[in-house]
Amino acid sequence: KDFRNDVKPNWCPGCGDFSVQAAIQRAAASAGLTPENMAVISGIGCSGRISGYIKSYGLHGIHGRSLPIAQGVKMANRDLTVIASGGDGDGYAIGMGHTVHAMRRNIDLTYIVMDNQIYGLTKGQTSPRSAAGFVTKSTPHGAIEKTLSPMELAVSSGATFVAQSFSKDLKDLTAIIEAGIKHKGFSFINVFSPCVTYNKVNTYDWFKEHLISLNEIEEYDPSSREMAMETIIEHESLVKGIIYQDKERPSYQDLANGYAEQPLAHSDIELHPNHFDKLMSEFM
Ligand code: SF4
Repeated sequence: KDFRNDVKPNWCPGCGDFSVQAAIQRAAASAGLTPENMAVISGIGCSGRISGYIKSYGLHGIHGRSLPIAQGVKMANRDLTVIASGGDGDGYAIGMGHTVHAMRRNIDLTYIVMDNQIYGLTKGQTSPRSAAGFVTKSTPHGAIEKTLSPMELAVSSGATFVAQSFSKDLKDLTAIIEAGIKHKGFSFINVFSPCVTYNKVNTYDWFKEHLISLNEIEEYDPSSREMAMETIIEHESLVKGIIYQDKERPSYQDLANGYAEQPLAHSDIELHPNHFDKLMSEFM
């Protein structure tokens, strides 16, 4: 059950991504998983390196494409617990089309976005999550666009588990990731994970000052879609906790499993050279 390997992360000291890595490892162990029955699939960016730092099956994919790969892995072997991960640039810019469709598909996997509101790997450009007015090398006069709201997007797009957390709250973050892993359907977790090198605005202190825990909101009910949306808008997305969970809607696997008695990965597929030649001849 030990999800540690020998690879030393090369994130900057103090980067929020260290806590996300630790939280995934602890949550997986607490959920009773083993490295042999988990796969971590990541995109490109500083956060994309995470798949190499966790002992499990894994794949460091291409930019914005962690979700298509992760969904393929889950479809081929529904017995694996699949975690997709990446940064806000990876998931909310180039990968946005995949993010929305994975949410509405409600495929049974956990998607963790390390949201530092900037592009870190390419040395500090404005991302879709940067606030209006944010000054970087790519927006020297301040970002003109409105920031994207992942929480609103997830609730309206059909994700059945929508949560937000903060790298500094390791215990809460671990509990949320474990709940996401156990949820049957698409679990979406946006984690505020400060970039200490390039984002000097959205720092650990800034989040500590601005984030509100849903535990502080009287009679908050995560099963209410309306309450979730109202709360996100009222607090401008600066909330942490499980914002929305629909335990009733069947996952993609629940609906599709009837088409195959066993996962493709367990099927006895006879690979005969003639089959390959026949297939290729159709393209000649
Ligand atoms: Fe983390 Fe930022 Fe350093 Fe990348 S550049 S490793 S996001 S602190």
